[in-house]
Amino acid sequence: MGNLYAESGLDPQNLQNSYEKKLGHTNASYTQAVDAGTYDNFINDKAGYGLAQWTYWSRKQNLHNFAKDAGKSIGDLQMQLDFLAKELAEGYKGVLEALRTATSVREASDCVLTKFERPADQSEKVQIKRAEYGQTYFGKYATKGMEDNDMGYTNSTLVDCKVMSPNHSGKRTHRIDRITPHCVVGQLKAANIGGCFDEASRKASCNYGIGSDGRVCLVVDEANRSWCSSSSANDQRAITIECASDKTAPYAMTDIVYNKLVELCVDICRRNGKDTLLWFANKDKSLNYEPKDNEMVITVHRWFANKSCPGDWLYARLGNLATTVTAKLSGTKTTDSEKTKTADVTTEAVSGTLEVIYTGTDGVEVHNTPDFNASSCNKTHGPVGPATKKGSKFTVAALVTLAGGSKMYKLKSGLYITASEKYVKFTKTETKTESNVPFKVRVDITDLNIRTGAGTNYAKTGEKTGKGVFTITEVKEGKGSDAGWGRLKSGAGWISLDYATRI
Ligand SMILES: [Zn+2]
Repeated sequence: MGNLYAESGLDPQNLQNSYEKKLGHTNASYTQAVDAGTYDNFINDKAGYGLAQWTYWSRKQNLHNFAKDAGKSIGDLQMQLDFLAKELAEGYKGVLEALRTATSVREASDCVLTKFERPADQSEKVQIKRAEYGQTYFGKYATKGMEDNDMGYTNSTLVDCKVMSPNHSGKRTHRIDRITPHCVVGQLKAANIGGCFDEASRKASCNYGIGSDGRVCLVVDEANRSWCSSSSANDQRAITIECASDKTAPYAMTDIVYNKLVELCVDICRRNGKDTLLWFANKDKSLNYEPKDNEMVITVHRWFANKSCPGDWLYARLGNLATTVTAKLSGTKTTDSEKTKTADVTTEAVSGTLEVIYTGTDGVEVHNTPDFNASSCNKTHGPVGPATKKGSKFTVAALVTLAGGSKMYKLKSGLYITASEKYVKFTKTETKTESNVPFKVRVDITDLNIRTGAGTNYAKTGEKTGKGVFTITEVKEGKGSDAGWGRLKSGAGWISLDYATRI
């Protein structure tokens, strides 16, 4: 279809443009003249004509004879389609076979281009262009009303492994126009996500799983309805994707998984003829929306069941997912800030709490990615809302140093906020020392000092423990000891627990 479109714009009466002037004919007058017999050089004029722009004399002769035998006009659509089928079946068996077995539109398109149409320009550029046309038709026709036709659906070429699940309803009854990403609740590898669904007793499945290893597992063919979203109506029309996530709220996912989800959504949209991925963040609007042929809509499991799936972490990013995927589909160049999103960034795990101290009414921006220029959750609305104003508190998961040296805190929610002390106050969580006192320790050195308090800033009592076993009745953090300081039951003072082994 893509090739025919490129050749003729799908007009069966199309006369090669350069010949219109040369022969003094329009599409219609040429057709008419050939039909009437007033133009007798149809076979030998070397002018491309019809759906496939037949040009070579023997093919034009065959077309002419075929039309005559059928008693049809040379420009008749159905006649040309029949002739095309006959040509393929008789003279181009290899091409027909390739069309039947091709696993991608590009593969089929290239074969038609180089073995059937054979135009002068068969460059990569032309191959891509024609496959793009083909993809559009594929999405338009091959996925609609094709319940009884396996050709309508393909699986992603991003698939790294397959663990096929018996849990599905067979062929979809609705064309694909939704994507439903889920959180699998566990940082599972791709094959293990598949492994969750390979037994019939599990009675659940998904189309794809994206593992913590960044791999994609095919679980249920796209052609089939998976059992994933607690809604038959949704699963009939959605590609369902289980993504590796944390086990607890907000069910955060790693950048590797999120980026692969973006890639997979781009691929799903492209293969299904969509150039726009939509996120309405509204259940009723989404479920009542009838997507146009080029549109794909994101839906979420929590709308169909009492679940938090896909978790607040991903839920907060679905707008970003939709715009990123749509931008990639339209070939929009990723901005520089997006490119450096995960590059040149170092992350150090820290735990603590953060309080916004900035008093400005505009609040402090919270970002989706570790980048001050990245699309931010709005200062006054958006996923984190007014929580960015003075007094808002967050749990910090990591300290991120950007390429330029500036720093941001990664919050437990997966979002990022400035680490500047002008705006936020960070309080490190005290590392919990083993404080189930009393407990016994063994000291193996002879000269461990006893101090009057918990720290090297307290004076030595002059006494040393010597080797032996001692009872500790209290533990405190203090200067000069990583493990903390322990109070001796004897009342002699404090010792550094760095030199003591708990027994
Ligand atoms: Zn789910």
